[in-house]
Amino acid sequence: MKILIIEDELKTGNYLKQGLSEAGFTVDLARTGPDGLHLALTGEEPYDLIVLDVMLPGINGWKVLEMLRLAGQQVSVIFLTANDQIDDRVKGLELGADDYLIKPFAFSELLARIRSSLRRTNQVSEVTLLRVADLELDLLSRQVTRQGQRIKLTAKEFSLLALFMRRQGEVLSSALIASLIWDMNFDSDTNVIAVAIRRLRSKVDDPYANKLIRTLRGMGYVLEAPERELQSS
Ligand code: CA
Repeated sequence: MKILIIEDELKTGNYLKQGLSEAGFTVDLARTGPDGLHLALTGEEPYDLIVLDVMLPGINGWKVLEMLRLAGQQVSVIFLTANDQIDDRVKGLELGADDYLIKPFAFSELLARIRSSLRRTNQVSEVTLLRVADLELDLLSRQVTRQGQRIKLTAKEFSLLALFMRRQGEVLSSALIASLIWDMNFDSDTNVIAVAIRRLRSKVDDPYANKLIRTLRGMGYVLEAPERELQSS
């Protein structure tokens, strides 16, 4: 089981990493919101769970979780909050966190929460298969197929396609895509996005008659099933 800890406080981060490693987990540690998001979105193998501090440099924990969900990541998240305000807890759970712990907490308590969260995720069957027309993306096995044929994507291309499929029919601007998938701000240089989308299209659309990804000049990109042609009688 792979766990990502996103915690800027040096001592806490190291202590959690050591403790969870000793408990048998494979653990990565990130010190800032952007670093954590980057690891979560680009890792070879998805994480089973993320321990996420709320107050983080760069991008805070709430935003990290929001971006993960928008990018199609269904990973379990346990928030670490220094704040015992009920609003914060509600906000975390509304954003799709599985659980939260208020600092300071005992390590054994965190371990118990992690184990119970992992048990829950493995039992509950969630929507893990996204489908648009004949294109399918499996969030669990991270496999993409079109007309039943397997399509090999890089980690970035997979995240990009998952974002498009989650928000099918919605026009996504280059700036939004940049912030969600590259966690960066490409103010003027949207070429990176254009190139990535061209590569994605070459795999997902070019070999097929029906094109799913469309460019709306000056607005962005949209993925949707082509409209059925009206039968004229
Ligand atoms: Ca912090």
